[in-house]
Amino acid sequence: MAIIEVTDLVKRYGRTVAVDGVSFTVDEGEIFGVLGPNGAGKTTTVECVEGLRSPDGGTIRVAGFDPRADRARVREVLGAQLQQSELPDRIRVGEALDLYASFYPDPADWRDLLDVLGLGKHVRAEYRTLSGGQKQRVSIALALVGKPRIAVLDELTTGLDPQARRDTWSLVEQVRDSGVTVVLVTHFMEEAERLCDRLAVIDAGRVVAIDTPAGLVEKNSAGQRVRFRPTSELDPELLRVLPEVTGVERHGPQFVVSGTGNLLHAVTSVLARNQITAAELRVEQGDLDDAFLHLTGKALSE
Ligand code: ADP
Repeated sequence: MAIIEVTDLVKRYGRTVAVDGVSFTVDEGEIFGVLGPNGAGKTTTVECVEGLRSPDGGTIRVAGFDPRADRARVREVLGAQLQQSELPDRIRVGEALDLYASFYPDPADWRDLLDVLGLGKHVRAEYRTLSGGQKQRVSIALALVGKPRIAVLDELTTGLDPQARRDTWSLVEQVRDSGVTVVLVTHFMEEAERLCDRLAVIDAGRVVAIDTPAGLVEKNSAGQRVRFRPTSELDPELLRVLPEVTGVERHGPQFVVSGTGNLLHAVTSVLARNQITAAELRVEQGDLDDAFLHLTGKALSE
């Protein structure tokens, strides 16, 4: 069941076409990623979904509502994470939550929310005294305080250290597991790969692919390679004839077999049938980075 439907969305800033015909649907209960390099049009897209910007073309439905025409209805179902700079430095964490809770008819108990987010001890802390990770968690709490059906999280872990980043990821999974649909904007490959059920890859204002992370990798990387050193004589033809195998190379004593599907199983079965042992066996998989490069012709990772 789609809870968000975006069809042919276009948004221009003057002569810049920031979003150039973007379409995707988000299913209820999934973590849907919007992945792409800086300037790809990700934030503009989700700001249109949130009703913060008006599109120049296309249609958007959020739980059946148009975010511009039915702004109040969309605000009831969609919680957006704030950019850090939008909170005053001296506001206390509890005050900020209280203020945001007052916007909603039936808000969550924000004290419980802070406990779950590991911020229970910081209710009276001034926002400016919090660490980067704690500020991010406050912004997640603010996105969730209205008990939304959808949470939009934009560049959630930018600037966080690796531990805080991993903690934030588990938190996002908890949010999804509690039944909230999550739209996650990111330019981190690892984050997309780890968290998203499905994702749209966006480049230069266009969607270049929509799939699961594994599906993107499988369809868009050069496939897998299996490397090993046979401990006795091996005829490469035995491997070349396998449907999974696309190439066999020899580097001295080492074999490098490229292919798709269950390549490892296919190769090791042949070796076993011929009583050949594989020493130094390694499998190399493509990743989302390879897939992105294949889709857009450029590397995402800086
Ligand atoms: P992303 O979130 O993928 O980094 P954005 O949606 O922020 O991309 O930006 C897409 C394009 O639109 C970029 O070229 C950016 O410079 C431009 N842009 C974004 N916001 C504005 C704005 N308020 N005014 C003019 N141009 C903008």
